[in-house]
Amino acid sequence: MSLTAGVVAVQGDVSEHAAAIERAARTHGHEVTVREIRESGIAPDCDLLAMPGGESTTISRLIHGEGIAPEIREHVADGKPLLATCAGLIVASSDAADDRVDELGVFDASVERNAFGRQKDSFEAPLEVAGLDDPYPAVFIRAPAIDAVGTADVLATWDDRPVAVRDGPVIGTAFHPELTADSRIHGLAFFDNDAAKPPLEDAQ
Ligand code: GLN
Repeated sequence: MSLTAGVVAVQGDVSEHAAAIERAARTHGHEVTVREIRESGIAPDCDLLAMPGGESTTISRLIHGEGIAPEIREHVADGKPLLATCAGLIVASSDAADDRVDELGVFDASVERNAFGRQKDSFEAPLEVAGLDDPYPAVFIRAPAIDAVGTADVLATWDDRPVAVRDGPVIGTAFHPELTADSRIHGLAFFDNDAAKPPLEDAQ
């Protein structure tokens, strides 16, 4: 049976995530149909969700305004996998320390926006990530850092600060795994995440 993936598409790196999900699914021997989510009613049909980078205040406003936010919460409460990257990580967190972001609180970590500098300070770094054999080429663009990790496991740190975490079915990254051809983070989030296995096994 084919899986249905949803990419929250109100703003941000949507097509790059869709392509990375398709590559990761192929690598893991799954068929996947990717749907773009701009309104409510689509996320409940999805086996896995990605929330992209972009601008967290805008994404927050639009997903709440469109009624998508409660559907993402339900998806995670059902134990289905979510990959939240950069601005998506900020919106998914439990505390973004910014009144303009209405956090989903789907993983137990607070974040600090723009912790690694402004746009001009974007950089790529070879990152050791728990669960991956070789370093991952991580692209950071005005990236957040993760301040407190609560019940979440830290999967990677940069500059002594957590930049990838897992809390049950949710993986959050401060960097942009959709912007490189290496789709191992999508594989980790959707097809190798033990905490998120049951719904995927049901779907096979
Ligand atoms: N700095 C942005 C924000 O706070 C996130 C940047 C990104 O997603 N590349 O929303």
